[in-house]
Amino acid sequence: MSAPSDIDTLIEMMARLPGLGPRSARRAVLHLVARRESQLAPLARQMQQVAATARECARCGNVGTGEICPICADSARGNGQICVVEDVADLWAMERSGVFKGRYHVLGGTLSALDAVGPEDLRIPQLLERVAEEGVQEVILALSATVDGQTTAHYIADALDGRAAISSLAQGVPVGGELDYLDDGTIAAALTARKSF
Ligand code: ZN
Repeated sequence: MSAPSDIDTLIEMMARLPGLGPRSARRAVLHLVARRESQLAPLARQMQQVAATARECARCGNVGTGEICPICADSARGNGQICVVEDVADLWAMERSGVFKGRYHVLGGTLSALDAVGPEDLRIPQLLERVAEEGVQEVILALSATVDGQTTAHYIADALDGRAAISSLAQGVPVGGELDYLDDGTIAAALTARKSF
């Protein structure tokens, strides 16, 4: 007994998603196929829609549907602080905690000698430009406590060369831990207790 190949292909594609493996992918696809009209078709339409409209915010690197994301477009938020995160999931995690009212900057990863990732491969030049242009007083580094995360933090601190105060989230954030895995209260506490870098 073998499933039709279209369904096999869908299972294979789903199995490549983070958090899913072959078993979860099979369960999800069988669930969807059994609800073709009520769930599968709307999901397919929404995926097509997002594939057509999702884009990277030209300013901070967040993901949204416009040239500038809602956070960058929000005039109620202050320009004085920029929170620097590794990826969009970290930005969203900070945002869920609800304590930060400044702007963000998504690097798109960390510097890595092993993987040959240099400053130009990340959004570090854009960060330096923003600090110069947006009247930023404090750069908050919310980077992971891994060797690469800390190398990146030091590189940014050196590159800013005193043009803004630099702080980092208080530890309590586990080594190598991603913000996305922390509860909102922990993130809020780490931000409130941030220390000068
Ligand atoms: Zn933005």
